[in-house]
Amino acid sequence: MARKDLRVVVIGAGMAGILAGIKLKEAGYSDITIYEKADRIGGTWRENTYPGLTCDVPSHHYTYTFERNPNWTRHMSPGGEIQQYFERTTLKYGIDRLIRFNEEAASANFVNGRWELLMKSGTRDSADILIAATGVLHRPSSPALAGLDTFKGALFHSARWDHTIPLDGKRIAVIGNGSTGVQIISALAHRAEKVEHYVRTPQWIMPVENGSFSKQEREAFRDPEVLNAAMGFEEYAAAVESYTQAIIDMNSEGAKEIAGACLANLENSVSDPVLRERLRPNHAPMCKRLVFSPDYYQAIQQPGAALVTEHIEHIEERGIRTRDGALHELDIIVLATGFHPDTFMRPMAFTGRDGVTLESLWSDHPKAYLAITLPDFPNFFMLNGPNGPVGNFSLIDIAEHQWHYISQLLEKIDGDDCDEVSPSHDALTHYEEERIAAAKQTVWYRGGCDSWYLGKDGIPASWPWNYSRFVQEMKAPDWQKFHCVKRPR
Ligand code: NAP
Repeated sequence: MARKDLRVVVIGAGMAGILAGIKLKEAGYSDITIYEKADRIGGTWRENTYPGLTCDVPSHHYTYTFERNPNWTRHMSPGGEIQQYFERTTLKYGIDRLIRFNEEAASANFVNGRWELLMKSGTRDSADILIAATGVLHRPSSPALAGLDTFKGALFHSARWDHTIPLDGKRIAVIGNGSTGVQIISALAHRAEKVEHYVRTPQWIMPVENGSFSKQEREAFRDPEVLNAAMGFEEYAAAVESYTQAIIDMNSEGAKEIAGACLANLENSVSDPVLRERLRPNHAPMCKRLVFSPDYYQAIQQPGAALVTEHIEHIEERGIRTRDGALHELDIIVLATGFHPDTFMRPMAFTGRDGVTLESLWSDHPKAYLAITLPDFPNFFMLNGPNGPVGNFSLIDIAEHQWHYISQLLEKIDGDDCDEVSPSHDALTHYEEERIAAAKQTVWYRGGCDSWYLGKDGIPASWPWNYSRFVQEMKAPDWQKFHCVKRPR
């Protein structure tokens, strides 16, 4: 059998799953299915539709390298435009024909050299190669607040926005001040009668401009050389390097620059000294994922906006009761309270070779060799898997580098000497030791804050080295770290 006839199943049709489909087709694979739990592609950009949704990575860098988009309307794109870009790209590359919608994977078992798959619908399938492109932040986290279900108004999570609820002239509470809460406040401060922002831990806000591209600029960007020159792709890579260096070295020049910009933003943008102190974080910048905003401080100083730093006692029929005893009467409560960052493919059940379960492998925390492969899980690869780079940079770029690495593992399986490829236990153990030691040096661990970067064990779960190390690691697999099984033919 021509090896490119191997059957490949991809789980998830978000940014990474679409990338996998395009690259698999390009490599000559013809037997590909992408299973998607929803009825549309798009992942994060399908699920998040809240007012003000904007990508905080510059548009032209939040784009597949092989599918530049001269038509982005702003320096940082609104979410709807990004969703349209992925929908267009999916159609252009014929990926829509590979996708089976409304199919949520329930289990995958490695049996007799193949992955046996079961969908929640009862659909069964099998594959030689299995790719998980299931995303990182896709399971909304609701706070454990007493009385949440007693509220008589509208209450929903930011990733489940209820567009049937009118906002104009309403009394709205937004709980949470990650990038999501901050963007919602900026969007609603002018529209609602009253917007209250419930902030438990003030965050550093990095100032950023988000102007529009003129028609002339967009026309000029059709020429890739003009686009390249205007967008400075090398400068962007250098900025990501400096940012990641700042994470691993709190005394680096980049860390000082970012801290200075955030501090100046707070000092210069908030005129009321009392409000300024209530907004001042007590942890190091970048300890939590940096919030970029052109206008949050202006929004929270609008007459109808209020910062609430008093802790929430409970929710009741008419609104939120804070610990000082005050009842804040409300029409709408938005939970901008983030996501469970450690689910990845789960709750799907996964069993690898000889009955080894994912739950046993991940009993302490999710892990993967170089964020992509797992021992005893042959021919299974993850995009944006555990311990991969996540932060204030493009996850599309990260997934493209990961694909470059995965494509070499696929070539190995396509060759004559290897039917099943997976990393050794030793490779993962040594990698984990080094990763955990490095994670304890990062600002996420030492910066004095709690965040979703930390695993349940308190150890940062994201890539703890700089960007250049990631790019270097993704250039080529170290074959000594892998087991190759050749099956008798
Ligand atoms: P997040 O960063 O995890 O923030 C969750 C917020 O909810 C925090 O402020 C947290 O407060 C608060 N919270 C949680 N439980 C609470 C409770 N019981 N009472 C009061 N407050 C509570 O979530 P997110 O803002 O949705 O962002 C998720 C990730 O997506 C982040 O990395 C974010 O930067 C990223 N994002 C990116 C973009 C983009 O443009 N690329 C846009 C939106 C989001 P504490 O800090 O006190 O825990």
